[in-house]
Amino acid sequence: MTRKVGVIRDERYLEHKPGLVHPEAPGRLRSVYRMLDKEFENRLVQIEPKLATLEQLQMAHTPTYIDLIMSTAERDFTPLSSDTFVSAKSYVAAWLAVGAGISAVDALMGEEVRACFSLVRPPGHHALADRAGGFCIFNNIGIAAKYAIEKYGLDRILIIDWDIHHGNALQDLFYRDSKVLYFSSHYMGWYPNTGDWDETGEADGAGYTVNVPVPKELEDDDITYLYQNVLNRIVRRYKPQFIMVAAGFDAHERDPLGRTHLTEKAYRTLTQIVLQMSDAGNGVPIFFSLEGGYDNRALAESIREVLDMLAFDGRRDRLSLRSTKRAEEMLRKLRQTHGKHCVWIY
Ligand SMILES: [Zn+2]
Repeated sequence: MTRKVGVIRDERYLEHKPGLVHPEAPGRLRSVYRMLDKEFENRLVQIEPKLATLEQLQMAHTPTYIDLIMSTAERDFTPLSSDTFVSAKSYVAAWLAVGAGISAVDALMGEEVRACFSLVRPPGHHALADRAGGFCIFNNIGIAAKYAIEKYGLDRILIIDWDIHHGNALQDLFYRDSKVLYFSSHYMGWYPNTGDWDETGEADGAGYTVNVPVPKELEDDDITYLYQNVLNRIVRRYKPQFIMVAAGFDAHERDPLGRTHLTEKAYRTLTQIVLQMSDAGNGVPIFFSLEGGYDNRALAESIREVLDMLAFDGRRDRLSLRSTKRAEEMLRKLRQTHGKHCVWIY
């Protein structure tokens, strides 16, 4: 099993310019790419993103919506929703952000790398079938998961969404589908105001959507204990063949939009938990795709922790996680809402 870690970057992701005062700005990736050059020179495998095909875009979006996005090409400024705007080259960035997921899935399935982090923008987990929103244009991870199912015949993909906002588009895309188990922790009451405990999936997908609304006071110990407990169970029962992470870093204490209390160390521990889950399945491929995170320094520092843990070659320290009252309360609610589905918790 390879232990190599891949990373996807491209200058074209900086060409999406939603406006001078917009939080989802090119400077986010600029600071991440600078950090990569400084600290990871030869430790990571560069994977080239390719443009997604029309067929792949249609795995999550309607033809009319795709036409609308392509029609913004070379226009200086087009508003797509009250918070999502595009510039002349945004369509290429968005299109290539989907392609990054496709390239990553191929590299992971071909065992070129064990894990791959797609450092792209615009983000994707709020991009609905026919509507942009929450700074997202295309559903990057949703399409990667659909592609992995179609091309490689997978039928158990675990998506972990640790962005502080609920990934409503990921939930929507797989709400009636057991081939993807979508797990999200997020603060409810901010955009997009979805992801309540009782949104657990429907039909074939009943029990395969797992939402955990977290309290605003959320700290490192709360989230790591919660993840360790939930993911352990999910991995034991669901046995994912592929793990995808909607990696937003806006739950960081310095994030201007997030305002919960995580530090970059939490992301290191969460990554170690994800690695353990992958180990438990004999090296299940892991794909990270960047979502939110709006304090440039906190974003780069958090991603550094994730990559440093992924690329770490030695023996990992045993995790000693502390149970907290807040985590126990969230686990209790999960038992209450998910026990009856018998998908991963009884
Ligand atoms: Zn977010």
